Amino acid sequence: MDEPTEGPAPIIVDQVEQMLVNLAAEGEMAVLVIEQNIGVATAVSNHVAIMVSGGVFMVEVRGLAMVVGSALDQSAPAYADDFAGREQLRASSAEFRKEVIQITDGVFAAVGYSASNVTLIQGDNGSIIVDTSANPVDAKAIIGAFGDRLVRPVRAILYTHNHPDHSGGANVFSGNDNPEIYSHQTLVEAGPELGRGQRDGGDAFGTKLPDELFINAGTQIEYGRVTPHTREGYLPPTRTFSGESLTIEVAGAEMQLIHTPGESPENTAIWLAAKGVSRCN
Ligand SMILES: [Zn+2]
Repeated sequence: MDEPTEGPAPIIVDQVEQMLVNLAAEGEMAVLVIEQNIGVATAVSNHVAIMVSGGVFMVEVRGLAMVVGSALDQSAPAYADDFAGREQLRASSAEFRKEVIQITDGVFAAVGYSASNVTLIQGDNGSIIVDTSANPVDAKAIIGAFGDRLVRPVRAILYTHNHPDHSGGANVFSGNDNPEIYSHQTLVEAGPELGRGQRDGGDAFGTKLPDELFINAGTQIEYGRVTPHTREGYLPPTRTFSGESLTIEVAGAEMQLIHTPGESPENTAIWLAAKGVSRCN
């Protein structure tokens, strides 16, 4: 159908919209609509391709928008401003505000300072750090945010896994404390999984979006836009475990490291039975 809502009164537009949904719901035909009203187009469709100057500028599938091709031009931002998921994406930025959250007595999480959260477990005469943020710059900011809640020395660093956003700030947390660094053995064997944001030809973190279109990176406020990616802060594990779990005691805190392969082969959850707290990646 070619621009079915062009011209009619708003109440008729509503009816046309409903008719399009009903037609598709009957399942007997695919419905292709050429539509200038982006609100209608996104409301009735499973897939939307937005054309600018004769080229496909953006493809949207059920609220997830993706800029494609090289059709970005001066007129593009006005169109992108209207995509259906924009408000949800904007609202999700509040999830990433910088904050140190107390999980329970002696356990704190630094949220929003980096692409992943860092957990601080207070032990006797020292601290335990779970994951180390994406890079040394973020790690320093997190140490500042923890303030005197982080008591040196850091006696252990625990990696949930080796994605760069979890392991890139280890040298800052380590400092001169020479902590034991724990991970599952598969972390060492697999090595870091780099370039995931570009996998399958996608742009998972909005890396290529121009600033005026960028809202947040979907799972964090930004990733690699402000602070470039670096691996200079990574430290290799000093103690690994194979099999399902390892129970350790560090600075008076007993913890169970549980192999939970998922997002990566080495994924490890930490169970603090005495505090009833589990830290997953
Ligand atoms: Zn990950």
